[in-house]
Amino acid sequence: MSDVLLTIENVTGGYGEADILFDLNMKVHDGEVVVIVGPNGAGKSTAMKSVFGLLKIRGGTITYDGHDITHDTSDAIVRRGICYVPQTNNVFPTLTVHENLEMGAFVRKDDISDSLDRIYEFFPPLKEKRKLPAGTLSGGQRQMVAMGKALMLDPKLLLLDEPTAGLSPKYMDQIFSIVKQINELGIGILMVEQNAKQALGLADRGYVLASGKNRYEDTGANLLANR
Ligand code: ADP
Ligand code: ADP
Repeated sequence: MSDVLLTIENVTGGYGEADILFDLNMKVHDGEVVVIVGPNGAGKSTAMKSVFGLLKIRGGTITYDGHDITHDTSDAIVRRGICYVPQTNNVFPTLTVHENLEMGAFVRKDDISDSLDRIYEFFPPLKEKRKLPAGTLSGGQRQMVAMGKALMLDPKLLLLDEPTAGLSPKYMDQIFSIVKQINELGIGILMVEQNAKQALGLADRGYVLASGKNRYEDTGANLLANR
């Protein structure tokens, strides 16, 4: 088995005093696609926000690439190589597609033009719409902007919170195929998904989360077969 990239160990936490996650345990290995599925309200988004330092956790440890990131800020976590694409409000609607991608590189001090070229190669529709405000794009294309923004930082691990939420089947397929291509670049993926069938179909491993705990862990194929 390849090296462990991310470890979530006995994590307990939530919003303020109210715990949502209870002794959550998960792992992502280098280059893996790991999918979190489970009922609404299970704590999937809360888990992602906790990993990315957007929520203070009350107990447990989060380790990334050998470093304890449990109490790091999001900016520090980004600098370590993790990027996060939230489910909503993931683009700046009044800025153009191009400006959104530039903003994505906010922590970089080097020349970003090669990265911009690569993102446009990766997402042809974005090149065509580069001068339009991101808010005028379709949901699927906005999701591409959000993912492109995160990729501007060359992450080693990408956290995706329901990237296909609310998308038409056509865009859903496109986004899943993009997730696969991103993973083929060697980027690890931890993804929350409602569309469990498709997501588990491309997952190396998956976790079923319920009431803030992981209930099952197995290969994507086994979870899919035993649904
Ligand atoms: P999932 O992503 O699995 O649907 P969430 O992590 O979004 O679940 O939500 C888990 C629980 O946390 C739910 O009971 C939800 O009501 C609660 N919750 C979500 N966001 C907040 C918030 N900002 N403040 C307080 N409680 C929240
Ligand atoms: P600032 O960096 O001044 O706080 P931003 O609006 O650019 O302002 O970012 C707000 C937060 O969102 C940042 O602190 C960062 O953690 C996160 N963020 C912004 N862009 C990205 C990105 N491309 N990938 C991951 N996180 C990001």
